[in-house]
Amino acid sequence: MRTMDRDDTWEPAEELVEWAKQHFAGIGIGGVWSPDESGCTYVRQDEDTFALMRMIDHPTAYEHHRRFVKLFEAAGVDMIEGDGFVKQPPALTPEQNAEERYQEKQTIAQGWKCECGLPLANFNLDERTDVFIEEKDVLLSNGDTTPVEIWSCNVTCPNCEKEVNMDPDDYNLLAGDELFMQWNDTDGAKFVALTRMQMKEMADAGVSGIVLGSVSPETGDKVPPWMWGTYNLRRFPEAIEKADEVSDEEE
Ligand SMILES: [Zn+2]
Repeated sequence: MRTMDRDDTWEPAEELVEWAKQHFAGIGIGGVWSPDESGCTYVRQDEDTFALMRMIDHPTAYEHHRRFVKLFEAAGVDMIEGDGFVKQPPALTPEQNAEERYQEKQTIAQGWKCECGLPLANFNLDERTDVFIEEKDVLLSNGDTTPVEIWSCNVTCPNCEKEVNMDPDDYNLLAGDELFMQWNDTDGAKFVALTRMQMKEMADAGVSGIVLGSVSPETGDKVPPWMWGTYNLRRFPEAIEKADEVSDEEE
């Protein structure tokens, strides 16, 4: 690997180390760090240790890994390479790459655990609170910046009552689209984004829903971006329970 010798002098910048410390602190045991396009995936084993779990069999991935080893060290985290990691041939197409990454992430998501050991998959995932964190300017490839809202999906462990703050994409991966595309406002009402078939049925029945923008027309609450532009039914949980009771009695 003579061609990479010139990169041996690379050291992570102070800001990167600071970022890494904070970012790693937010990853729970069993959680994964897999920087986009790096070809490397690491899993948190315990408080102080990450292990390499997968690496694309390509010089670019090796080089990323060599730098990440330095970054882990600078951030005060042990990194185990071991023999247990999977060396994977590079994907043939971008679609295959995306599919492989999705499959891998979904498998990983099933293994996410609370500090107490309970898998996040066993939480009451429909009882979720969406919290707005901040607005960040993201640089576009044409040099312009665009504001992006950062949100967190918070779920509570039914075993130890710890609140787990999830990245919305992670929550979506774990809970699926149906639960992800729901949102509770501060009045305790639930917005449920409708599928095209549900919209058709409502239109046929002469019932109107609500299109969500960035602010709820009912309460003035800030709406999470993944609900923008969706057509919703707004219901109160008691009304849903009552409707269930009525239909139970009818049966
Ligand atoms: Zn717990």
